Amino acid sequence: MLYKKSELEVFELPELPKNLKCKLCRTNQAVIEAPSLGAKLCKECFNKIFENRVKKTVEKYKMFKSENKVGVFISGGKDSSVLAVVLKKLYPDLSLKVVHINLGLRYYSERVEKKVKEFCEKFEFDLYLYKLEEKENFSIDDFILTKFKHKVCAVCGIIKRYLFSKIAKELGLEVIATGHHLDDIVSTMLNLFFQGDFVSITRLTPVNPPIRKGQAKKVKPLVSAPEKEIFYYAVLNEIPFVEENCPHGGITPAKRLKHWLSQLEKENRHIKYQILSVFYKKLIPLIKTSSEYKKEINLPVYECINCGEITSSEEKICSRCRRVALLKDLEDRLEISFEEFKALPKEDVEVIEIDEENIPGKRALLKKLRGKKDKKVYLLCSNPELSYSIVLWLRKKGIKAINVKTTN
Ligand code: SF4
Ligand code: ZN
Repeated sequence: MLYKKSELEVFELPELPKNLKCKLCRTNQAVIEAPSLGAKLCKECFNKIFENRVKKTVEKYKMFKSENKVGVFISGGKDSSVLAVVLKKLYPDLSLKVVHINLGLRYYSERVEKKVKEFCEKFEFDLYLYKLEEKENFSIDDFILTKFKHKVCAVCGIIKRYLFSKIAKELGLEVIATGHHLDDIVSTMLNLFFQGDFVSITRLTPVNPPIRKGQAKKVKPLVSAPEKEIFYYAVLNEIPFVEENCPHGGITPAKRLKHWLSQLEKENRHIKYQILSVFYKKLIPLIKTSSEYKKEINLPVYECINCGEITSSEEKICSRCRRVALLKDLEDRLEISFEEFKALPKEDVEVIEIDEENIPGKRALLKKLRGKKDKKVYLLCSNPELSYSIVLWLRKKGIKAINVKTTN
């Protein structure tokens, strides 16, 4: 199976020769080669090693106790779904809650939700579904209409953190387990290191204790699991996961570093663990002795006057509430129905018809729209999801593009 997450993130389960035996049990047929173990293994032995590693991590860092109520927020991707499956298998008596937040990303989020439901049904999880648009009257896409159009992912991160905390309180969760894995953590560490943001590196530890009483602690049980092996676990155990990327996700510097590390891994299979160990054992303790770190953790914190979450802002309005306030009374829209389009006065309507078979190049489109930044441009296509993705792109270029939903 081939899974192409992005140009730089390609995962493949290669077919091994049929007569190859597992290096551990020497009985079953080997089906995968685990990069961190440097061995070809059968499904049973690989599962055991993978699950034991998660168990060791949970125990080493005392991530939760058997009586704790633990939540796993699943995104529909492989990492959080694998985490939920492994925790359930390792700790069958644990009170485990699976939560999914539908972010309201037009067209995409509905497919993700469907996949999450399929996953929960298959692995018998009782799903807590939180639909952002229904509950809070906005979607992550709406930030394209604000000054944050180039930072949608950063805003999404803030909104998700707020929702994790809010939902954890609603459900009485004491611990939130996230699917961050070895590759995610090491690449983020290096990225922050290159940016000189050393204080933020300290937040990448396996356990983040609550800032104040009543908050859930956050844990990363997959911190020692390489992403490739999470993918293998998902495929071998037939765990359904979304194979497409979020429309806002692009190639980030951290993703480039992840790719670079995987290239290095071919020469040194321990490289990611070595970096992780140096950061955890040497660098983070050193950063914690710095005046910069001490100043940051001693900053006064306040309760947001709007949502009650913790904020360091002296105006007592948290970053989430500040961003959401920008959406209030917003009249601009990203998509309208065909009926609304037909009712528009014909003279001011600038229309671009997109031919699905012959999609115009981005440069050609921009050239066509030169000098029309103040005009609303309506996009029509027999595949409205395709024109919607072009609308999102044009908005980032400053064009007031609006999709016309040609189908229901
Ligand atoms: Fe949110 Fe960006 Fe991730 Fe999409 S890619 S879910 S917008 S953080
Ligand atoms: Zn707030």
